Amino acid sequence: MNLHEYQGKEILSSFGVRIQRGIVAQNANEAVAAAKQLTAETGTGWHVIKAQVHAGGRGKGGGVKLAKNLKEVEEIAEQIIGMNLITPQTSAEGKKVHQVLVAEDVYYPGDNEPDEFYMSVLLNRTSGRNMIMYSTEGGMDIETVAEETPHLIFAEEVDPSVGLLPFQARRVAFNLGLSGGAFKEMTKFVMALYTAYVKSDASLFEINPVLKTSDDKIMAVDAKVTLDDNALYRHKNYVDMRDIREENPIEVEAKEVGLNYVDLDGNVGCMVNGAGLAMATMDLIKQAGGEPANFLDVGGTADAKRVETAFRIILKDTNVKAILINIFGGIVRCDRVAQGVVDAYKNMGDAINVPIIVRLQGTNADIAKELIDNSGLDVQSAVQFQEAADKVQAVLG
Ligand code: GDP
Ligand code: MN
Repeated sequence: MNLHEYQGKEILSSFGVRIQRGIVAQNANEAVAAAKQLTAETGTGWHVIKAQVHAGGRGKGGGVKLAKNLKEVEEIAEQIIGMNLITPQTSAEGKKVHQVLVAEDVYYPGDNEPDEFYMSVLLNRTSGRNMIMYSTEGGMDIETVAEETPHLIFAEEVDPSVGLLPFQARRVAFNLGLSGGAFKEMTKFVMALYTAYVKSDASLFEINPVLKTSDDKIMAVDAKVTLDDNALYRHKNYVDMRDIREENPIEVEAKEVGLNYVDLDGNVGCMVNGAGLAMATMDLIKQAGGEPANFLDVGGTADAKRVETAFRIILKDTNVKAILINIFGGIVRCDRVAQGVVDAYKNMGDAINVPIIVRLQGTNADIAKELIDNSGLDVQSAVQFQEAADKVQAVLG
């Protein structure tokens, strides 16, 4: 589950990580009230107004702006809320902004060269260990840094049996070129950040930039946080942070009916039982000259009801030109699945307007094939993988 910046910062702050303080606002009036409150608490008269969408690069797209008085807070909030924010990380249509974070300005006037660092915590899948990735080159695209100056990116791996050790946090501060008060602050920051990552069951923390202020404070100015969905059950207080306005509507619907569905850009819809077979099926579609329109694992119970639900979800994607059903009948018998496909098809009538290829293999595959072939419906059956691929290729033309 991805979070908004303001939510990510809330989590960080609850574990003692220093953050740029802010208050979220749904409209210009709330933004002005938030700015007043922040001024009362922090003394700053300047604020940054930051679009809250699930995408980075907001600064480049005009979604982060400095306001030097309340009038500007109002104007900028008015302008950003409701806008379609286009950034290097959104689609060409952009993302609609529903709310802004009004934050204290922490780049003090007269501070010409604020130190911006990059820091993330994530799992290194090769070593199977968490690591802290960091760089002196914060504030900008880390991808560009990785391409052009990879030696400026450091990594600190954590041994899970002992956790992050203080000497490692000190090494981070040292490699970032810090000394004195800022060094101590960074050590504390890194330790708290790592604790927050582990305790919140996150799968990604990306803080870009981590700022060193001119008075040697270290704080998170941005926060991209992804939480592990599978661990949400033990974080009831985070569940409400989900903002489905930011998610793909078809995926949201699929989740509600208990299907594992991931929307993709291609033209061949797939309905498969088991994640491994689903991956293999996507490869098969590519080999046949198509592109998978989705990943869909219908799970073990491929009965008529479930097949029908899956059909409806797949067909919401208007790019779909054909559907490939690839089921292995192990626990579920192929003839039952075939009957499910036939029943679902009949139930849906005109709603199915693309060719369907069904490959059933396993228990009772021959009976299943007969069932499909004799149904009189526009469904083609296949038994072998290659046969299915050829039929997909044929219908795509
Ligand atoms: P992103 O563009 O989506 O990554 O959003 P960020 O939260 O990283 O903000 C973008 C940029 O806005 C940062 O890199 C900073 O340079 C700038 N920025 C953020 N907070 C402040 C602030 O308090 N004052 C000023 N002057 N600039 C800020
Ligand atoms: Mn950022």
